[in-house]
Amino acid sequence: MRITIDRDISTPVYRQIADQIRDLILSGEFGPGRRLPAERKLAESLGVNRSTIINAYGELQASGLVESRFGRGTTVLAAPLGSPPAGDRQAAPLPWRQFFGETAGRTREPLLRDLMELAGREDIISFAAGIPAPETYPLDAFREIQDQVLRDHGRAALQHSPTEGHLPLRETICQIMHARGVNCSPDEILVLSGSQQGLDLAARVFVDQGDVVLVEEPSFFCAVQVFQTSGARVIGVPLDEGGVRLDVLETLLSRYQPKFVYTLPTFQNPSGVTMSLERRLALLELAYRYQVPVLEDDPYGELRYEGKFVPALKALDRNGYVIYLSTFSKVLFPGLRVGWMVAPRPVARQFALARQLVDLHSNTLAQWLIDGFFRRGLFDVHIAGVRRENERRRNTMQLALGRKAPPGFRFNRPEGGLYLWCTLPSGMNGSRLLAHATEHGVTFVPGEPFYAGGQGQDHIRLNYSYLPPDRIEEGVARLVTVIRESTSHGREMPAGVVPGMMPIV
Ligand code: PMP
Repeated sequence: MRITIDRDISTPVYRQIADQIRDLILSGEFGPGRRLPAERKLAESLGVNRSTIINAYGELQASGLVESRFGRGTTVLAAPLGSPPAGDRQAAPLPWRQFFGETAGRTREPLLRDLMELAGREDIISFAAGIPAPETYPLDAFREIQDQVLRDHGRAALQHSPTEGHLPLRETICQIMHARGVNCSPDEILVLSGSQQGLDLAARVFVDQGDVVLVEEPSFFCAVQVFQTSGARVIGVPLDEGGVRLDVLETLLSRYQPKFVYTLPTFQNPSGVTMSLERRLALLELAYRYQVPVLEDDPYGELRYEGKFVPALKALDRNGYVIYLSTFSKVLFPGLRVGWMVAPRPVARQFALARQLVDLHSNTLAQWLIDGFFRRGLFDVHIAGVRRENERRRNTMQLALGRKAPPGFRFNRPEGGLYLWCTLPSGMNGSRLLAHATEHGVTFVPGEPFYAGGQGQDHIRLNYSYLPPDRIEEGVARLVTVIRESTSHGREMPAGVVPGMMPIV
C-alpha cells in the first residue's frame, strides 16, 4: 500500500494514514471486502508505532468505512462514495469528517480522553489525570445523605433546578467563599457542571474570532484548548517562581487589549507556582489600569500542605474585575461534575444565559448531595484527611524520584496541589517519551499541550494524588527505566527513525 508520512506537518501521523486509506476506499481502488494489512505489519513497514495504526483504523471504523473483527482483521465495508445505491444495496457511508464545522477542525487530539481511558486500565500506572485519591472519597457519608435526600426531598431533588444553581448550595458556596476571604451573595454565583464549563462559558461570552486572550505559560491545557477552539488568539505570558511575569504582561496588555487574562495563581497547573501576594496586588493594578477582566481559576487553593496561605485574587479585588472559578472535583471527587463561578452580577447573568443553551442546569441531585455534605459539617475533617494523604503521596513521589531519577531529570517541590512539574534530560521529548512509556505501563501528560505556542517538549507533568504509595514507587521505577532507555536510544537512532508521535496513546 502506498502511504507517505510527512513528519513536518502538524497533522498527526495516524490521521495522515487514515486519510490516505480513506481516499483509496472512496476512489474505489480498495473495494468492499478487501482486507487491510495487519496492524503490526503496516506499522513495521511505515516505521511507526502499532498504536498509530490502531488509531488510524479506529478512525476509518468510526466513519463506517471498515470493520474490524477479532481474528479476521480489518476489512473495507463501503461501496465507494458516489456509486449509485442500486436496488437494495446499502447507501455509501457518510464521510463524516467532511461535515464537521471549523470549530471541530480546531479541536486538538483527544489527549485527555485517551489518558483518562488509560488511567482506568489496571496494567497501566497513570500519573496523568489530576484525580484525588479514591480512597479518600467519603462514600458512607454520601450514601447516607443520598438516602435522606431521596426520602425527604426526592421529588425536588430529581426535578429541574435553576440554571444559576440550587439556592441552598449557592448559599453554602457563599460560606465557602467567605472562608476564602470573599464576600459575595448567591446571585453572584453560578453553579457549573465542573469548572471546565466555566472556561467554555468564558470563551462563549467574551471571545469573538481573533480576539486575544492572555494565559500563563505554561497553563492548564484544557483551558488553552477551549480558548483556541473558540477562535481566540491565545498568547502566553511566561511565569517565574513568583507567578506570571508582569513586565511581559504589561507589554501585552498595552499592545493587544485582550478580552481577559486567565490565571491560576495558587498551585498553578502544571508548574505548581503560587503567585506572591505582591504580584497578585500588582496584577490587579494592571488589570484596573488597562481595564481588562481577570479569569481566576482556583481548583487547588484548599490543597496546601505547607507554607503560608496567600489570598485569592478575588479576595483582593476592590473593583469587581475578577471572575473566579473553583470546583469540588479536587477536594471531594470529580464524578458528580459540580463546580462554580463567582462574578459580578451582570457577568453571572450573561454566563447563565449562555449556559442555558448548553445544559440548562447542573445535575440537581448532585447539588443536593454536595450541599448536604457541607451542611452536616463534614467537609473540614474530610479535607484535612485529603491534605494528609496528598502530602504523603507527594513525598513518596519526590523521594522515589530523588533516589532513582537519571542525571538531567529535575522536578519541583510545590507546597500544595496535585502535580510535580518535571524537566527531562537535555534533548528528550516528552511526547515521544509518552509513547515509549505507555508500552512500559506508565503514563503522564507531556509538556507540549500546556504551551499555547507549542514549546514545552522538554517537560512532563506527574500527578501524585491518584495512586497509593506502592504504585507510585512502581510507576517511578518504570518511568526511570523508560527515561534511561530513551537516553541511550536517542543517541543511537537517527532523528528520522524516531516515530513522530502526537501525544496520543
Ligand atoms: N481548571 C483547572 C486548572 C484544572 O486543573 C481542572 C481539572 N484538571 C479544571 C479547571 C476542571 O475541573 P472540573 O471541570 O473537574 O471542575
